[in-house]
Amino acid sequence: MSADGLDVAVVGAGIVGVSCALFLQADGHRVTLIDRAAPGEGTSFGNAGVLSASSILPIATPGTLARVPSMLLDRHAPLRLRWTHLPRMANWLRHFVQASRPGRVEMHAHAIRALVEPAGRAHDRLIQRCGAGDLVRSGGAFKLACDAAFFDQTTRLERHFLERYDIPHAVLSGDEVREHEPAVSDAVVRGLHLEANRRVTSPVAYTRRMVETFLAEGGCVRREEVWGLDLMDGTGLVTASGRHPFDRVVIAAGAFSKKLAAEAGHRVPLDTERGYHVEVPLPAHPPVHAMQALEHGFFMAPLEHGLRITSGVELAGLRAAPDYSIAERLVPLAGRYVRGLEDTVRSRWLGFRPSLPDGLPVIGASRRHPQILFAFGHQHIGLTLGPITGRIVADLVAGRDPGIDLGPYAPDRTFH
Ligand SMILES: Cc1cc2nc3c(=O)[nH]c(=O)nc-3n(C[C@H](O)[C@H](O)[C@H](O)COP(=O)(O)OP(=O)(O)OC[C@H]3O[C@@H](n4cnc5c(N)ncnc54)[C@H](O)[C@@H]3O)c2cc1C
Repeated sequence: MSADGLDVAVVGAGIVGVSCALFLQADGHRVTLIDRAAPGEGTSFGNAGVLSASSILPIATPGTLARVPSMLLDRHAPLRLRWTHLPRMANWLRHFVQASRPGRVEMHAHAIRALVEPAGRAHDRLIQRCGAGDLVRSGGAFKLACDAAFFDQTTRLERHFLERYDIPHAVLSGDEVREHEPAVSDAVVRGLHLEANRRVTSPVAYTRRMVETFLAEGGCVRREEVWGLDLMDGTGLVTASGRHPFDRVVIAAGAFSKKLAAEAGHRVPLDTERGYHVEVPLPAHPPVHAMQALEHGFFMAPLEHGLRITSGVELAGLRAAPDYSIAERLVPLAGRYVRGLEDTVRSRWLGFRPSLPDGLPVIGASRRHPQILFAFGHQHIGLTLGPITGRIVADLVAGRDPGIDLGPYAPDRTFH
């Protein structure tokens, strides 16, 4: 490394890539952020905005598996599957089933916790550096249920892990929930208050604020599609404008990272858990917390311009046409949990959660090409984990110990 740092390219300007760029820049590297779209316009655009301190349970659990058959028959369930995509997902689903075994769930929860625990501090570093404090709200988040027995059953495993890892939470009656959040309807009888969770009032504004700082501190943003890696003669990227040499390349292209990882010799079972949102006007007395409707799995997030209702998972790959009815159907259901909700849908959106079947991201350097680093696959909590991933990537480039065992996130780990 020369005295004034390395030339580093980061492919993908979502929350993960932007965070990598900022932490690398702070180490004195000359960083180029490359994206075919404007920064923050991918999956990082339309999420629920939750900075979670509590999301440590992987999606693959024995309970999830047991519910799959009934969920596939229920059009309001948090899982939809396009049957035509099934053959292409067979491998991913096979690994997912294996990852659901109790011993695996323990291991994966431990590995997610290792990232979630320092994630808040990594956000705080970027919030302070980028002056983004005005976009962040504290006070926790709620999981709400209209059926007490359903609440007890569906939150049992999660509460077990919250207790084990000493993550602040409280089980509340409906009335206790309403003391914290008067916008919650009388139909709600139980709530899980995840007290340390925060939220941003606009995920895209949060990412843009970071990009502004990156640019102001000398970073470079290029709007180009990356066609491939150039590993024949040093390290570089190939785009329509030619070959671009770099000392290091970070692949942070979210759900689209699979092909680039394969070019570096890593066949990772990356697929996408698609997710939708619709936005409706904020009610006259708007909620001030992000909330999840447990019976249907969707989230309700009060943002700057409206209440964003985000869907569960659709398994249909990257190319299938959107089916916005999945999210539109959630609006009347949301009205059961929140008072005074209007059903005028003002915007609709589809995003691609980048997901590995074990629920863990890929973070680390390629064994074969150590100058290529991976930072993708953050599934349902990529907004939460973007900054900690950026910190780890910068540590790896600098040769510092990240203080976290990176084995569980290795690109060549065993997935079953
Ligand atoms: C409905 C929904 C709700 C969610 N809610 C939350 C939440 O509340 N909290 C939370 O923590 N997480 C949440 N998530 C998850 C989170 O949004 C994602 O994990 C996260 O945005 C992934 O960030 P990323 O930077 O990896 O990917 P992206 O934001 O998708 O960024 C990848 C970028 O790479 C670019 N790219 C891809 N290929 C190329 C190429 N070949 N050349 C150039 N550019 C390329 C794309 O244009 C894109 O901008 C939610 C997700 C969804 C779908």
